[in-house]
Amino acid sequence: MSKDLVTVIKSVNYSEADKILTVFGKYSGKFTLFAKSIRKINSKNRGNMQTLSTSEVSFYEGKGMPLLTESQLIRSVETENLQVKNVRRVLFMLNKFLQEYDPYPKLFDILQVVISKNLDTRSVNKLRIKFLSEMGFLSDFTTCMYCGSDKNLEYIDKKHFALVCKNCYSKGNSIPLGEDPYGSATLTEIIDKYVKRVVEEI
Ligand SMILES: [Zn+2]
Repeated sequence: MSKDLVTVIKSVNYSEADKILTVFGKYSGKFTLFAKSIRKINSKNRGNMQTLSTSEVSFYEGKGMPLLTESQLIRSVETENLQVKNVRRVLFMLNKFLQEYDPYPKLFDILQVVISKNLDTRSVNKLRIKFLSEMGFLSDFTTCMYCGSDKNLEYIDKKHFALVCKNCYSKGNSIPLGEDPYGSATLTEIIDKYVKRVVEEI
């Protein structure tokens, strides 16, 4: 029996009571799990394997798809105050960018922070930036593109998708992100566009 800590990133109904789950495992990376009878009322795994829930799971690896046997819920999102757009942003990223059985424990840990913050815009944007740079689509997003400073990064150069500090913003075509750069609607929109562009290229 194999074990991993996994977050469900896609869930597809299969036949009458089963599901095929795509999960992001801390140690295994992305993989699919066959969840037999999980849609039955008396299934003990039913409540643990919702999309964006994280559970400790045991699974059997035989012929074909790994089969979910046991699960224990660790954390999940609260559906009440959840922003649907942010759910889509995170799921899109995870499903498109992760490769099967290619683990990224660091990104997995950041995802857990995002889930515990119920996918607020600031942490979702931080996760997306981290993802882009871990996957090699972004060179550096922690310093000013002109002077290299890591302070007062309140502007962004849209064309280069790079941050610009307060002292350098007049040097090019940068636009302000405000005092909460990661939470700003401007940054959200720029990342949306950038992600789309990257996805079209891969
Ligand atoms: Zn600067």
